[in-house]
Amino acid sequence: MDGQRVTGHTVTWQKYFMSTIHLKNFSVQHLAIATILLVGSTSLASFWVAENIFRDAITSTIRVNINNIVNVAVQETMNKLRGHAIQFTNRTQNYATLHATLNKFLKNPKKGKETSDLIEQLNSPFIKGYVDAIHLELLKLRIYDLNYQPLTESSHGIELPYGLPQFLEKMATGRKGSKRLKALGGLWSSNGQPLYSVLVPIGGLRIKGYIEAVFNPAFNIGAIDQITHIPVIITSSNEALLYRSDSINLRSTNRLSVAQPILGDDGHTVFQIRSFEDISGIYKELYAAKTILGGGLLLSNIIIVIFAIWLLYRFLLSPLIKITQNIDQMTDHNTKVHIEPTGLREFRHLAKAFNGMYETVRTNTQKLEILSSTDGLTNIANHRAFDTALAREWRYCNREQLPISLLYIDIDFFKNYNDHYGHQRGDDCLKNIAHLIDGCARRPSDLAARYGGEEFVVLLSDTDGTGAYAMAQTLMTEIHRANYPHKNSSIAHHVTLSIGISTLVPSDRTSQNQLIKLADEALYRSKSAGRNRITTT
Ligand code: GH3
Ligand code: MG
Ligand code: MG
Repeated sequence: MDGQRVTGHTVTWQKYFMSTIHLKNFSVQHLAIATILLVGSTSLASFWVAENIFRDAITSTIRVNINNIVNVAVQETMNKLRGHAIQFTNRTQNYATLHATLNKFLKNPKKGKETSDLIEQLNSPFIKGYVDAIHLELLKLRIYDLNYQPLTESSHGIELPYGLPQFLEKMATGRKGSKRLKALGGLWSSNGQPLYSVLVPIGGLRIKGYIEAVFNPAFNIGAIDQITHIPVIITSSNEALLYRSDSINLRSTNRLSVAQPILGDDGHTVFQIRSFEDISGIYKELYAAKTILGGGLLLSNIIIVIFAIWLLYRFLLSPLIKITQNIDQMTDHNTKVHIEPTGLREFRHLAKAFNGMYETVRTNTQKLEILSSTDGLTNIANHRAFDTALAREWRYCNREQLPISLLYIDIDFFKNYNDHYGHQRGDDCLKNIAHLIDGCARRPSDLAARYGGEEFVVLLSDTDGTGAYAMAQTLMTEIHRANYPHKNSSIAHHVTLSIGISTLVPSDRTSQNQLIKLADEALYRSKSAGRNRITTT
């Protein structure tokens, strides 16, 4: 079922296509226009593709660049944070009171008083404030023993998972000697909240323990847009908004949004930074380049197309049209056709071949025309040529209102001639008489023709009865003078003629047939009256 439907569809489609586009009606011009349109649309399409590729390439380069810039800026911000954090924490652990309190606590860790003293110490920056508050946001302070086991922590600040963050513990354990004095720091997150911890030894060279200070890195990382000059939106790993640049205008269409995760030292994503780079300037330049390139391409295409059209017209269409016109002229016999062999080599050959062919056709046509209008035996005009001439001259005399005459001539006792001299001699006689009659028809419009058997006609255009009679008399004189012997004639010893003459002025009441009929009747009367005579109507 489906297959049939598809086939039916295809056939309908083909029918529709063939009826819409009549390929056979296509000319070279159509072909040229189609080619030009094809070239134009292909170049436009390739230009469009090139522009998109170009734009994509630029965009991805910008993306990579923004990624790099933001990464560097984050690194720088984190380094600054680390500096401030270590400075802050060093200052805290150098307080003689903290050192003393920890000492007491270590000596008697079970007693509540020592513990609460230590916690009070740790709470102090949260309560009293701290000098670095413009650089740092402190979230927690925690104390560890020499084996990095948690001892206690500030009751102020945020809740954190118990113990030293794993990545810090990894970095710290295994350190020997003076290396244990070095401060450690790193970015990490807890429950999606970004954190920055530094771990600093307490007690100078005679280490009693470690203090971990935990800060909010979002407090610092916001300054990233001041370094990069690219507006940003910073979110935590669980999508909470941490920072948003004031200069951000998300409705601006020419901002390229690039998102990148910032990994903490614990290996997890701590921030998501989305930058919004203003690329209107670059796109403006791209547009300018496109306009210049596209304009140039269009201009060169137009020039090429115009040149192609000119070439096509000059060397292909124009010679073709000329040849076609010349071939059309062939139908007109009066114009002699000749094509100048100029232009491209192929056209010169074509012109020569055409001229040769034309000459052959013309000669053959002329030969055919002569053959078809000539009597085979006598070589004078035949019945058909007489009919054509009568029609033409009848029209002419009708138009000019001139008389037209016809001589109907019959050889007397010609049957007897054949009987006596034989058919061959009869033919010779017919030829001689034809020649004689033809010689008397001197005017260009006069036509002597063999009408059939031993009967001849002479058509005399623009000739009245008197003229026709004079002509008949001339014929009679000539035949007598010729004196062709005819022993078997009942009226003379030589060949004689009987002639009937008709004359008409063509009008609505007369006709060509009437002219023939009247001449025939006159001839009949000549025969009846004894032959060898002229009778007029
Ligand atoms: P009339 O005086 O009444 O015209 O007598 P006629 O014998 O000429 O007339 P008819 O019509 O009886 O005979 C015409 C003859 O012309 C008959 C035929 O043998 C002869 N004839 C016709 N065509 C040709 C031809 O092509 N060659 C020859 N040799 N004879 C022809
Ligand atoms: Mg006859
Ligand atoms: Mg006869």
